[in-house]
Amino acid sequence: MGSLQLKSIRKAFGDHEVLKGIDLEVKDGEFVIFVGPSGCGKSTLLRVIAGLEDASSGSIRIDGQEMATTPPAKRGIAMVFQSYALYPHLTVKDNMALGLKQAGTDKAEIESRVTKASSMLSLDPYLARRPAELSGGQRQRVAIGRAIVREPSLFLFDEPLSNLDAALRVQTRLEIAALHRRLKATMIYVTHDQVEAMTLADKIVVLSAGAIEQVGSPMELYNKPANVFVAGFIGSPQ
Ligand code: ADP
Ligand code: MG
Repeated sequence: MGSLQLKSIRKAFGDHEVLKGIDLEVKDGEFVIFVGPSGCGKSTLLRVIAGLEDASSGSIRIDGQEMATTPPAKRGIAMVFQSYALYPHLTVKDNMALGLKQAGTDKAEIESRVTKASSMLSLDPYLARRPAELSGGQRQRVAIGRAIVREPSLFLFDEPLSNLDAALRVQTRLEIAALHRRLKATMIYVTHDQVEAMTLADKIVVLSAGAIEQVGSPMELYNKPANVFVAGFIGSPQ
């Protein structure tokens, strides 16, 4: 579970066309990285997949099922943002549990999922704290935990590590790689960081101005960039 098929996805804000016909196949369990310059439409594409924005046209299939008009909560997707988006007045535990509570999941099941996720992410000692009492890395782990407890088949990450310092970025990247192996879920991950792209990805999608320039494995893109743009992007540090 967790395959994704995009066909001719277009998105315009007024007369500004931000996505200009995106076609993409993501296999069940794949780790796919989106890279591209700031403003090229990476976040918009994630938001369209998640259902937080409607596409202007095109088809989104998850496990073969058309999702273009399916509300976000029914898509089996969880999204992790750069800015964490935690509720400051709730404890770590309640931040992780909130989505499940709202979905009407029963209490024992919520307890069991939060316990499992917090142990996976080494958050046990912090469950009673509030976000302000945590480091940036811990907050981002809570945001990841909140996604995990929903047991989605597809995770979307929008530059999740860009607010962390270099050491924490490395540590959290390794944790995300371990989670991917463990959960066997599909992950789509936007980053500016070339090391993240090269080490995490099964497949890298290079975007420019709302269109896909090239899709390939890290080695394919590195060895056979389709054009100068891709070569510059993969070859030079971002
Ligand atoms: P990226 O994540 O690649 O930096 P975005 O997807 O955030 O790019 O933005 C792509 C373009 O769409 C930008 O020009 C941005 O200003 C525009 N854009 C994004 N969201 C909106 C919105 N809600 N209304 C109008 N324009 C938007
Ligand atoms: Mg963005």
